[in-house]
Amino acid sequence: MLSIVVPCYNEEESLPFFVEEMEKIATKINHSIEYIFVNDGSKDQTLKVLRELHQAMPEKVRYLSFSKNFGKEAGLYAGLQAARGDLVTVMDADLQDPPELLPQMITMIEQKEIDCVGTRRTTREGEPPIRSFFAKMFYKLVNKFGDTEMVDGARDFRLMTRQMVDAILELTEYNRFSKGIFSWVGFETEYLEYENRERVAGETSWSFWSLFKYSIDGIVNFSDVPLTLASFVGAFSCLGSGFALIFIVLRTLIFDDPTDGWPSLVAIILFVSGLQLLCLGIIGKYIGKIFLETKKRPIYIVKETEETQQNKKVTYK
Ligand code: UDP
Ligand code: MG
Repeated sequence: MLSIVVPCYNEEESLPFFVEEMEKIATKINHSIEYIFVNDGSKDQTLKVLRELHQAMPEKVRYLSFSKNFGKEAGLYAGLQAARGDLVTVMDADLQDPPELLPQMITMIEQKEIDCVGTRRTTREGEPPIRSFFAKMFYKLVNKFGDTEMVDGARDFRLMTRQMVDAILELTEYNRFSKGIFSWVGFETEYLEYENRERVAGETSWSFWSLFKYSIDGIVNFSDVPLTLASFVGAFSCLGSGFALIFIVLRTLIFDDPTDGWPSLVAIILFVSGLQLLCLGIIGKYIGKIFLETKKRPIYIVKETEETQQNKKVTYK
């Protein structure tokens, strides 16, 4: 069986298109399929659409509905937990992940003895240039400094074997960064390339700011290089100021300079205290992550599934 995990946030408009497209592809797949939709606290009628979908195809469509918005990462985790298939795929509801790639992905996994087929976009068309620029920078940075490789343009859209899904589920951390997690668990992964697509309906839920925060998370969650960097900068400025101190003492002893250079002193103090704040900030970021992690809060809270919904109906009758 193939499980299709779809995190949904305000996707009432895209979902019907998605299911229609997917059903067409399903006929070309030699597996039975199940959908697992995760409603991530949508503010629109997504939940209602999901209930209707389940009623239309009770055997095929399962759904979970969160008690609030927990973020796409939580949605993915919940979906993977609920999935029962031997093969599991993760897709966006907006058809930006082309379902027509699925048959090929399945053949690849079955014939090549690989564990995962990922997808990557070759173009970033339809995206603001500034966003593409920062995305490129991000990938350069993490791949240079991080220990976990992240492929530029790789989407979350991928097909995995049960073994790999189970490995991912073992990572129960609260601060989840899927791109890193997929890569961290290892396994043989091959990438299929395709051209970027526009959303079929609805709007992207990512603002520039949220992407920026997401990329910082990506670095902090998978690498301690910023901390090392901070200590290097500290050591370097310590050394530099040591030499400067010796120079000033000698100069005063030899030439007996009067005291001047007040502006440069202030500039130096400001610079150094700025550096200290920056390093504190970096450390703080890690402490913040530890703080959230030690609370051991659940990654998501489910309010409704297709099963609880059915039970409700029975009790009301
Ligand atoms: N999504 C989610 N929770 C969120 C934000 C997004 O489950 O808080 C889902 C969304 O419904 C979609 C997928 O994650 O299926 C990708 O989101 P989006 O299309 O907004 O991102 P983009 O494709 O622009 O990167
Ligand atoms: Mg999208």
